[in-house]
Amino acid sequence: MTSSAYSALIPVAKRPGQLFVKGQGSYLFDDTNKGYLDLVQGWAVNTLGHSPLVMQEALARQAATLVNASPGFYNGPMVELANTLVKHSVFDQVFFASSGAEANEGAIKLARRWGQKHKNGAFKIITFEGGFHGRTLACMSACGKPAFEALFEPKVPGFIKVPFNDLAAVAAAMDDATVAVMLEPIQGEAGVVEASCDFLQGLAALCQAQNALLIFDEVQTGIGRTGKLFAYEHHGIKPHIMTLAKGLGGGVPLSAMLIDNAVSCFEYGDQGGTFSGNPLMCAVGQAMVEAVTAPGFLAGVNARSQQLKAGLGLLSAKYGLGEVRGQGLLLALNTGMLDASALVEKAMALGLFINAPRANTLRFMPALNISEAEVAEALGLLDKLFSQ
Ligand SMILES: *Cc1c(COP(=O)(O)O)cnc(C)c1O
Repeated sequence: MTSSAYSALIPVAKRPGQLFVKGQGSYLFDDTNKGYLDLVQGWAVNTLGHSPLVMQEALARQAATLVNASPGFYNGPMVELANTLVKHSVFDQVFFASSGAEANEGAIKLARRWGQKHKNGAFKIITFEGGFHGRTLACMSACGKPAFEALFEPKVPGFIKVPFNDLAAVAAAMDDATVAVMLEPIQGEAGVVEASCDFLQGLAALCQAQNALLIFDEVQTGIGRTGKLFAYEHHGIKPHIMTLAKGLGGGVPLSAMLIDNAVSCFEYGDQGGTFSGNPLMCAVGQAMVEAVTAPGFLAGVNARSQQLKAGLGLLSAKYGLGEVRGQGLLLALNTGMLDASALVEKAMALGLFINAPRANTLRFMPALNISEAEVAEALGLLDKLFSQ
């Protein structure tokens, strides 16, 4: 295929020129059969790496059985995955969709519906500077990404943005019209910025006191990414609503909104979607959650996390770079004076995929089952990269 064929696609992102044809575990291959050690994994999506056997089997089995009954009917994988998620979390009910933005859109709608029914029409949602929640118009309105500020005006009103990790600012922004606080426990797109435990516990208490809902966007942090199945578990708190996507499908389009019974208030017709609870996708989601909750799996994530974190720390010291941040296998390295985007391009030439969410930040989000040898290989390639 010639690169001129690419012009049939609406250009919405700066993509490298290679054409990718195959993925296997931690490696992605282009059409010249060059292999790349992939620490991006579809943007923290491929929980078990590229095309894991359990996914192939779930897809083949379900494709031969039932691909789409109708969103208006129950189907086996939809019911099974909902029950699995409820069993492994503090939530009671699940709504499935196809993307993170769609799940967040559902959370925003549910909160507003709850406000209509239970809080005098309260509708405002407090969100955070640096936050990322997706690219529907309401989600872009909820984002705290400066580059989105001037886009697609007028945006959806009702989102109040405050500084991250600033409990006093949240308290000051709250009023009778506030229905919810929505945040990522670790801001991924902002460059792996962690909410402190104190802040999250304070938020939970504040929401409780003010009769506001706490919404955790765990689209990036959920499904084992931070070393626990869900990031809220690190902090001993219970959000009212949580959204999942990326790692839930392990590579296929699947997302979910999980809620506490107490906030369940949609009327028939308020929420839905043609692909909601699609059996083909839910069968894959079930395989992912089973893999991540299998005995010993999260211990492996934490071991690889320590290995990668320690290795990045050594490289940072060796080359005079900045801090290593993050939890589990959602890690970042501050590159100091080095331009992170240029490093990403040079790494690609070395056969390594990494990501630069900010001008001076590299992000690492490998498959959760990356091997010890593969982490060592990645650190070796990074050493070579920084020495250039
Ligand atoms: C990726 C992401 C989204 C958006 O998910 P899509 O599937 O791209 O719509 C929302 N929130 C967070 C925290 C994300 O990382």
